[in-house]
Formats: sequence, C-alpha cells, structure tokens
Amino acid sequence: MIAIVGGSIAAYMAYKTIKAQDKSVDAKIFSKESTEPYGKMLLPYMLTSNVKSNMFYEVPEDDLILNTEITKIGKNSNTIIDNKRNNYTYDRLIIATGADASIETFEGNANDRVFTVRYLKDIEKIRESIKKANLRHVLIYGGGLVSLEMTNAISMAGFKITIVISSNRILSQILNKKASELFEKHLTDNYKLEIIKGERIEVVEKSADGTVVKLSSGKSIECDFVVVGKGVKPNIDFVKGELNVKKGIVVGSKLEATDNIYAIGDVAEVDDVVLNDKSLHAIWPCAVEQAEVAAKNALGMDIKVKPEITRNVLPVFGMNIFTGGVSKLDEYDTIIEDYTEGYTRLMIKDDCLDGFVFFGAVKNYGAYTFLARNRIKIKGAEKKLLHGWIDPRRLI
Ligand SMILES: Cc1cc2nc3c(=O)[nH]c(=O)nc-3n(C[C@H](O)[C@H](O)[C@H](O)COP(=O)(O)OP(=O)(O)OC[C@H]3O[C@@H](n4cnc5c(N)ncnc54)[C@H](O)[C@@H]3O)c2cc1C
Repeated sequence: MIAIVGGSIAAYMAYKTIKAQDKSVDAKIFSKESTEPYGKMLLPYMLTSNVKSNMFYEVPEDDLILNTEITKIGKNSNTIIDNKRNNYTYDRLIIATGADASIETFEGNANDRVFTVRYLKDIEKIRESIKKANLRHVLIYGGGLVSLEMTNAISMAGFKITIVISSNRILSQILNKKASELFEKHLTDNYKLEIIKGERIEVVEKSADGTVVKLSSGKSIECDFVVVGKGVKPNIDFVKGELNVKKGIVVGSKLEATDNIYAIGDVAEVDDVVLNDKSLHAIWPCAVEQAEVAAKNALGMDIKVKPEITRNVLPVFGMNIFTGGVSKLDEYDTIIEDYTEGYTRLMIKDDCLDGFVFFGAVKNYGAYTFLARNRIKIKGAEKKLLHGWIDPRRLI
C-alpha cells in the first residue's frame, strides 16, 4: 500500500497522480479532517462571497480515511499508527501534513474571540462573529499574506480594520522597505484601515460591546474580534525521532526523506536554488508539483523536483503583488527599479535573477519565476525584464 498522510491539496494530488499512472495500485489517504480535501487558499474569499471551498476532490470512500490523525510512524517497521491506536503497514509513505497556523494565547478572558485561518471551521467561526458584531471593527494581528487576505475580505464586508504588527513594516517577509511603504500608502490612502507597527498584543478582554485588546505600549483598542496571522508551523511532531526535521521534514531532490518515505507540500523543506539551502515553500503550486513528483517516485520512477524558489502572488485591495527569491532584502549585489507602472524591482547576482518584486502591474508572471528557478543568465536583458517586455525563451 502507498499510504498518504494529510488531507489537502498535496495529499489529493499525490493520490490522483498514483491513480492516473496505475489504477490498480492500492493507495489510501489518512486525514484528520472530517471532510474531503478543500482549497485552503479560498478560505478568505468564502467570508464575503459564494465561493465554495470544496473543489470536487473525488476520492473513493474506501481510499479516504477521514477523522484519522496519524500520531506516530515506524520507519523500520514500515508502519503508521493513528489516534485510535490502529496500526497500518505501508510499502511507501507520502507525508503531506502541511502546516497549522501559529497560535498564541493572550492574557484575559476573550481568547475565544481570537481566530486563526487554516481550516473551514475557522472561517465558519469568523462568519458567525461577523453576524454578531456590534462595533464593526476587527483587529488583525500580523502583516503577512493571510492577514492581508483576511483584511481585504473583512473590510469588503464594511468593517473598519486595525492591523497590529510587531515588525516595522507590512509584508516584511516578502517586501523590501520601499515596496512595503508604497503598499502601506495605498492601503491607508484608499481604505478604512489603520496600521500600528512595533506592537504586540498582551491582553484580550471581553467588554460590554465587544473585545478590548491591550497592546505592549499600554494602548487599548476596542473591536469585535481578533484574527491572528502570524506565520505557520509545519505538522512534524509525529515524525520526530524518525526523520530528519528542522522547520519541516528535510527531503532530497526526489522529495525523499528515506528510501521509501517522501514529504511534500507545506511540511517539506526542499532545496532552494537562490538561497542555496533547504527551505519551506508554503504555496499551493509547490504542493501540486511536489505531489506529482513524489507520487511517481513512490511508484518506482526516478524523478527530481524542479529547482525551487520562494514566490508569492497576492491579489488584494485592487493591487497585484508578485514576489520571488530574496525579494525582502533592501540591499543586494545589483538592484534595478522602475516606477512607471507601480513599482518593479529586480535583484541580480552573477547575471542571474535572485529576486523580484512587482507591485501594481505585473506582466509575464511565469517568466520571472522560470528565469530565477532555472538560473538563466539575463545579462543585457535587465531593462526589458524590468518592464515585462521579454520572452524568457530568448534567453535560454
Ligand atoms: C487562508 C490561506 C490563504 C492562502 N492563500 C494562498 C494563495 O493565495 N496562494 C498560494 O499559493 N497559497 C496560498 N495558501 C497556502 C496553500 O493553501 C498551502 O500551500 C497548501 O494548502 C499546502 O497544501 P498541503 O496539502 O501541503 O498542506 P495543508 O493544506 O496544510 O493540509 C495539510 C492537511 O493534513 C492534515 N493533517 C495534518 N496532520 C495530520 C496527521 N498527523 N494525520 C492526518 N492528517 C493530518 C490536515 O488536517 C490538513 O488537511 C493559503 C493558505 C491559507 C491557509
């Protein structure tokens, strides 16, 4: 049996790939969720629109073992054990357990009004809180991608938003200082929101109308509820002691953790060609690509995953932000920038594209990722690239 542990896109794509190669292979998904796999990136959009997150993921009932959390693996015995103490033997194991939102508990009696966003049930709770809100004011804690997507969604429902961030800038993990300032100006000039930087939440208390949040400076903010988006934690506890783990499960170029165990998606630490190190690449397209490679390798093929770089696309507040590689660094070997249509920035070393930031108009998304991932020399084409005026195939 090929056992797949997880219940989301990486697990589903691995299953689908196996069955597309050979229907007769025994493959099973073990998921701790109570529903079929769904699209987590659609969760913020489900708050204010009719978007359905269930994406017609069809896995035959016998192959989708729901409400089953794998709590331990035995690398030498080829076994996995679940939370009901059932023991299963596998020939190959694909781990696709993704990540959970980092959770903080605050002082005070209103931690039940603090939400994270990772599961359908999280969105259901936020939707209920929106219905009951008196003040129509929400505090978002964190200035990363999920926080911004949630800010966008909740403000579309007519709420005032206060974003509290502990760092000194918004989207600090993907944007350099200049781009972050431009984005912040776009937000505060055009939308009903306030951004408070360099502060932490300390206390969350119930009040007569809603919730009072006390910050590290002593400042208090009254709001309906709090949404926390302060990064994610890969789900690796059940493999500790058995596999090589750092932030995630460390894998080689074939996504192998051992000769018959693979890790994919948000839980996997894979080679990053720009950083020249292992890194997590917690985005949907990576999970899909990795699932296909690991599934084929689990079937006995010998396939390497394509070189990877960090990359993100964020369509929020009428703006497209597209970043890749070392995009958050303020200094780099060579930096070229342009302000004609929003803001564009390329970061170059040894004639290769190591990072990029597009803010506003983005032409040719795929080209930049392709050039950076494949370490293609861009000498002489820098200016054209800055404006999206080049076909990357001409540079090969
Ligand atoms: C709100 C939000 C917005 C996002 N927006 C974007 C976006 O715009 N673009 C983009 O590219 N990406 C986006 N992402 C990221 C993207 O959704 C993830 O990269 C993707 O879901 C990773 O898939 P995965 O299968 O590796 O892990 P996950 O989706 O995290 O799924 C892991 C699954 O494993 C299950 N599981 C965990 N532990 C166990 C266990 N021990 N036993 C059994 N089952 C277990 C969990 O229940 C879960 O179902 C977003 C994510 C969120 C939460």
